[in-house]
Amino acid sequence: MQQADDILRVILLGTGIPNPDINAFGTATIIEAGSQRVLLDCGRGTVIRMAQLGIPLGAVDKVFLSHFHSDHYAGLFDLLMTGTIPQPYANRKCPLDVFGPPGVEDIEEGGNIIARPDRKIRTDDNEIDPDHMRIIAHEYAEGPVYDEGGLRIIAIEVDHGEFIKPAYAFRVEYAGHVFVHSHDTRYNENLIAQAQNADVFVHEVAAAREETMAQYPGIRVALDHHATPEEVGRVFAQTRPKLAMLTHLVLLPPDPMPINAVTAGVASEYDGMVLVAEDLMTIEIGANITVIPFGHGRSGSR
Ligand SMILES: [Zn+2]
Ligand SMILES: [Zn+2]
Repeated sequence: MQQADDILRVILLGTGIPNPDINAFGTATIIEAGSQRVLLDCGRGTVIRMAQLGIPLGAVDKVFLSHFHSDHYAGLFDLLMTGTIPQPYANRKCPLDVFGPPGVEDIEEGGNIIARPDRKIRTDDNEIDPDHMRIIAHEYAEGPVYDEGGLRIIAIEVDHGEFIKPAYAFRVEYAGHVFVHSHDTRYNENLIAQAQNADVFVHEVAAAREETMAQYPGIRVALDHHATPEEVGRVFAQTRPKLAMLTHLVLLPPDPMPINAVTAGVASEYDGMVLVAEDLMTIEIGANITVIPFGHGRSGSR
């Protein structure tokens, strides 16, 4: 039998895009493996989603950023500051390590400036150690970015457009289990090559009607940075994960493509099962793969 410690647990905190949406917050994913807990991206509302699950904000002190669109890091500064408050829901007792592509120094500098007034108040009030309300930046390149206690995180360079270079997907390995998150990318051969043998592969997708794009040229600009449903189907067909999932659905107003048109596009290229991700889903990868929606009981140790 599989031991509980051998489970790779993935919690999809946020599965949305920049559009403010109560049901789909900005991209953020918690990875739990053994005694470790790290965050991939930290979009808007990350701390709210953690609180909904009863995960103390201070329980995460490492964040891996895929790229620098704000829907992937807007929640970081809330986690940075609120995370230090000495109460059970927060209580971080160390700085926040933030791993990112080149440019992550700006996140460190900017975060530390944003936090300065609150850091001063709470330090003067003897509430916190000022060092705990700081970001420490770690720049990474393609390849392994983290390897600790059997948990490996590998950055895979993807193609999110010419002005968003580099941008990364992440492959997460633990106890023989593999989880891959595309983050934001167009159809990409490098991702296909490095997403082989995945238990769970979560891929972004974007779609709009031709008439909508003709009427609102801005939608075409957004779509050019992402993968179409047919392309995502081709990615899944060439990687054959045990479970394929769609996330970060770029289906823009005012006339969004219906979800069944998206899934039909994927199905035109891929005959396996596809699950549409939603916020607060927990995926447990162990002897089998279990997807637990929010509200159906907690798992793991909180
Ligand atoms: Zn995005
Ligand atoms: Zn993006």
